[in-house]
Amino acid sequence: MSDRYLEFAHSSYGKTVASVLGLPTPPRLKRASEAWAEQPMDQRYVLVGGDSGSELAAPILGALSRMGAGLRIVPEHSGLGPIKAAASTLHLKLAGNPAPESGEPRSHALVFDASGLRSPEQMREVYDFFQPLVRGLPGNGRVLILSRAPGAADGVAAKTMSSALRGFIRSLAKEIGKNGSTANLLEVSTGGQEWLDAPMRFFLSEHSAYVTGQTLEVGQGPGKGEGVTVALPGSLNGKTALVTGAARGIGAAIAEVLAREGVQIVGMDHPSQEGALGETMARIGGVGLALDVTAADAAQRIAAEVGPRFGGLDVVVHNAGVTRDKMLRNMSPQFWDMVLNINLGAILRINEGLLTEGLNDGARIVCISSIGGIGGNAGQTNYASTKAGVIGYVDAMAPTLSDRGGAINAVAPGFIETQMTAAMPLAPREVGRRINSLSQGGMPQDIAEAVAFLASPAAGGVNGRTLRVCGQNWFGA
Ligand code: NAD
Repeated sequence: MSDRYLEFAHSSYGKTVASVLGLPTPPRLKRASEAWAEQPMDQRYVLVGGDSGSELAAPILGALSRMGAGLRIVPEHSGLGPIKAAASTLHLKLAGNPAPESGEPRSHALVFDASGLRSPEQMREVYDFFQPLVRGLPGNGRVLILSRAPGAADGVAAKTMSSALRGFIRSLAKEIGKNGSTANLLEVSTGGQEWLDAPMRFFLSEHSAYVTGQTLEVGQGPGKGEGVTVALPGSLNGKTALVTGAARGIGAAIAEVLAREGVQIVGMDHPSQEGALGETMARIGGVGLALDVTAADAAQRIAAEVGPRFGGLDVVVHNAGVTRDKMLRNMSPQFWDMVLNINLGAILRINEGLLTEGLNDGARIVCISSIGGIGGNAGQTNYASTKAGVIGYVDAMAPTLSDRGGAINAVAPGFIETQMTAAMPLAPREVGRRINSLSQGGMPQDIAEAVAFLASPAAGGVNGRTLRVCGQNWFGA
């Protein structure tokens, strides 16, 4: 479904009308058009800053140089000590920030290491870095702050300041969204510094165009020696993934993006959608499995399909979902049971079965939640229960998957342009699409890009988390 207002506001007539009437012009978001590049930041510059006690300068600079970024600093910034020391150890060149009139390209991203913040006074270093730079951020620019996760921060002061950064990033994301820029916070817990490459690539690249105002914790991933980096580009090549609800909408996009990254897709959908499923799978070289997720023997049938042909599953994406909205006072037990069974019960049953047979060691599971499960919504007591249940489920299952060298996470979409949202009445649809920092709905590809990131072994430090892909929707924020 296309966003007609966005197209109108970018036409020459629409620009005039929007400016005369004071209407917002939603920015055009730049999205990834191909698989993960080896060096997504090649020919691009990142301005790096940090607080004076920052502890992550070396892994941050290492990750940025591996993605090909040119490194710049603001020479007069007070927190440069740890950055200069790390650059010298890693033999990396730091350039100065060129004057706007120099004709040099602007910096695509501002990256700040706030891992050493210990007092409200020191928060001034964050202000001093961002305040003069933020207006120079180009359209579709990126802000990324790295901090100590509150759970891993030592003492009251460190925890307080880690939490303060959440407020900062959420507010800054609301300020810079007008030009399509995003701001996110990576919270590093114990061992997470070894696993920064993939999340930093994700947040700094066009693969995260609709993710803003979010916090993501990165910890120790499975079985890796110090200093060894698991590369994101190419990491999914040759893997096999099951995607449920793959016939159309978000599920079809997930299947397409995973196939783009070299994954063999087994796309599953309800038998009533067999035709559409076949068409989607034919487009991407996938295999269709017409099967109801609520079938009592679904896990066994999946294992029987993928075991002999593909040697088991490396990735499982639980995307199939339905809404049956009614105020609780009017909700039938049929609507209640159906939504609970498809959106939540089936995920638990299928995973339980696949953990016994069908799932390879190191497997990664991604479940699709919803911001409806975070904010709640009148008329969605059934749906929101299931989507909030998914968030608790991935948290609870994280140790089980980690014991097998894998991980389980959730993606919570906001308003996404699909048949599900096209069916909404006009007024709530238009409101739903605009009440976020990027003033537009997301595309199915946006969810798929986040799923592909979380499905990669390179995202091994992210486990039990829920990532919102919602343009910082005000709903439940
Ligand atoms: P959609 O209705 O377009 O697609 C859902 C797919 O799931 C369909 O192909 C459908 O046939 C399949 N499905 C439904 N019941 C099934 C069953 N019993 N067995 C097998 N397959 C079944 O929906 P969508 O918008 O693409 O949503 C995909 C997921 O994203 C859902 O879990 C939804 O709750 C979630 N989500 C969507 C949005 C949005 O804005 N579109 C927002 C938040 C969350």
